[in-house]
Amino acid sequence: MNKLKIGVIGAGAAGYFAAIHAAGSQTEVFLLEKTSKTLAKVKISGGGRCNVTHNALEVSKLSKNYPRGEKFLKKVFRHFSVKDTIDWFESRGVKLKVESDGRMFPVSDSSQSIIDALEKEAEKLKVAVLKSFNVHKISISKGMFEVSDGKRELIFDRLIICSGGNPKKEGFNYIQQLGHAIVPPIPSLFTFNTPQEPLRKLMGISVPNAHVRLESTKLSYEGPLLITHWGVSGPAVLKLSAFGAQWLYEHEYQTNAHIRWNASHSESDIEKHLINFKIQHPKKKISKNPLFDLPSRLWEHLTQTAEIEENLLWQDISKKYFNRLVQNLFCYIVAVKGKTTFKEEFVTAGGVDISEVNPETMESRIIKGLFFAGEVLNIDGITGGFNFQAAWSTGYLAGSNVNHPK
Ligand SMILES: Cc1cc2nc3c(=O)[nH]c(=O)nc-3n(C[C@H](O)[C@H](O)[C@H](O)COP(=O)(O)OP(=O)(O)OC[C@H]3O[C@@H](n4cnc5c(N)ncnc54)[C@H](O)[C@@H]3O)c2cc1C
Repeated sequence: MNKLKIGVIGAGAAGYFAAIHAAGSQTEVFLLEKTSKTLAKVKISGGGRCNVTHNALEVSKLSKNYPRGEKFLKKVFRHFSVKDTIDWFESRGVKLKVESDGRMFPVSDSSQSIIDALEKEAEKLKVAVLKSFNVHKISISKGMFEVSDGKRELIFDRLIICSGGNPKKEGFNYIQQLGHAIVPPIPSLFTFNTPQEPLRKLMGISVPNAHVRLESTKLSYEGPLLITHWGVSGPAVLKLSAFGAQWLYEHEYQTNAHIRWNASHSESDIEKHLINFKIQHPKKKISKNPLFDLPSRLWEHLTQTAEIEENLLWQDISKKYFNRLVQNLFCYIVAVKGKTTFKEEFVTAGGVDISEVNPETMESRIIKGLFFAGEVLNIDGITGGFNFQAAWSTGYLAGSNVNHPK
């Protein structure tokens, strides 16, 4: 019997996983990569350590970390989830460890361990890797896929597209020509620039649990916040940038962000706490006694911008300055003007419209025998290992289903 010829476009995380799971005695698998290097992003990921997944074992909790694709991935993760990723790598000799924030890395702290495991498995299963094959046209003739890089042409029974994200819509042209809708790419995971904000003089200072909200929206996130030379960063801002990506794009990254410096205190909590402190410590200087676990320089800045005189004692504070301080603690307003790409983990939102893909198999709902996996889809996660988890899960599902009858 003739073997089923399967083409996989893109030798990244999703492409390798798809190719490995498509390989078997009934199939012949070809992995086509446009550059001369395979698994290039895996190599540099997580600062060279590869944040391979996240310790979120419950599917409902895991899927909440995807601003685009949550419902779709809930179905995908039922087939292959975090536990399966851990087992897959550990059974191939790559032990993983969990860090305190839930991110998971190889115990070796080297992305090369992940690369070695994927390459070894692909080699064992006789996946043919064709480098410098830049697919720019796919034609379908009599149910077969003709894939061309301009010079060479290969013909496949089935095709899995794993060509990753692209900041430009034109990068998806060869997929759009097949009849698939492409959601225009927009940036996700970035930090906020606040060029006019005096806060920037406090660069390097962080708070463990701030609440950040975009003005006149319900878009808000909590988490660590870092003050940088350009503005504000840290997980609270990055999450907000990902979930608010579309809104921020439409507003040209010009808005006000409201910061509550300690997310565990409501406005009335803050007021009560300050009144109690005033009663108990009337002779203490306001600017020199930080509250709510805030760093002293930040506290001092908040008192200064409330125009509280440096040596003012708690017993002497007037209602007006008290209210200003509460306002600064509960809702400090920074003017956002632009964004900076988060260099650690850059992803784009947008890509193949997932309403045209079956989440149980990753097969196109438009073209039988065509599959998708990884960041080429309009799916993206926040920072923390979620993007690779989506690549492993969708890659697994596409590869495992590709040889089923059309
Ligand atoms: C610096 C950096 C660090 C990151 N760190 C992490 C991390 O620690 N944890 C995490 O979860 N996520 C991380 N990410 C995100 C993660 O790398 C991606 O989500 C993931 O690589 C997506 O996998 P993929 O296989 O879908 O796409 P890619 O890894 O982008 O692979 C796609 C492949 O397809 C090839 N290709 C594209 N077009 C064609 C074509 N026409 N013909 C042939 N080949 C083609 C590309 O050259 C590429 O090799 C990081 C991203 C960056 C940029």
